[in-house]
Amino acid sequence: MKTNALYIFGILLLNLINSRNTLAKPVQNSRSKRFTTSVVKSERDAYGYLAKYGYNPCENESKPNGTNSETFCRQVALKTMLKDFQAQNGLPKTGTLSASVKKLMNTPRCGVRDMPRAFKTAKSWTKTCFTWNLRNGTLPSLGLTKIRQQIRQSFQDWATHSLLTFKEVSENEKADLYLAFTNQNNDSNFDGPGKTLAYASFLTVGEIRFDATEPWTEKYDDDDINLRLVATHQIGHVLGLGHSYGLLSIMNPYYLPMRSEDMLPEDDRHDIQALYGPRFPPSSGE
Ligand SMILES: [Zn+2]
Repeated sequence: MKTNALYIFGILLLNLINSRNTLAKPVQNSRSKRFTTSVVKSERDAYGYLAKYGYNPCENESKPNGTNSETFCRQVALKTMLKDFQAQNGLPKTGTLSASVKKLMNTPRCGVRDMPRAFKTAKSWTKTCFTWNLRNGTLPSLGLTKIRQQIRQSFQDWATHSLLTFKEVSENEKADLYLAFTNQNNDSNFDGPGKTLAYASFLTVGEIRFDATEPWTEKYDDDDINLRLVATHQIGHVLGLGHSYGLLSIMNPYYLPMRSEDMLPEDDRHDIQALYGPRFPPSSGE
């Protein structure tokens, strides 16, 4: 990754975000009541949101309380940041906190910043065989057995369409990639149910963190958050993929329910193959 990466609920957003990919189709049920918590209501909220996800060009973005320079920065930069956000997500570039912008900002997403996009398809590993493990943390109610099944499937999503192989090792063994669930008590990147779902570290750190307080599920509906879809997105990040803003890419930063049979979307297949090569030579049909 949904952050490229890779999600948005509901058919309404189909009209809001451009996409060239027609292979995978998101589940088009109504949006769950679980995710209707409004985080961004005001311009001040939007400013904080845009700063969090990398749109703030100001150096002092992390100051908790406004200073003169921060206020000036906010007044000057908010419209620009909103335009950048709208352009990034295929929305009309009005520079205003429109209803469509608010709706997207209040959609659960990946914790990896949108900007800058320097790491987009930047190859970070020189090998194709990886080990991974799931480490002790705060496990959600989905349970360890289903969690491991879902994560294995996520690795397989990438392995099926590339030269990559992944081997699970025990928790105490050294691994290239390691995953864990935690919550806002132990990780300031998280914020309770909804909002930020998970994030990944880039380059060869190989770390993926999931917010344990999300309603994780193995089901493919939009009542809860499907773990496989989010894990596949985050694995995409640790393999070197940045966010992709097509509606039907698993690397879209926003959570989009997809069907199991639509994994892996075509855009993502091309991106992973560009980094590591296809599973079979082109002459064999891939
Ligand atoms: Zn992401």
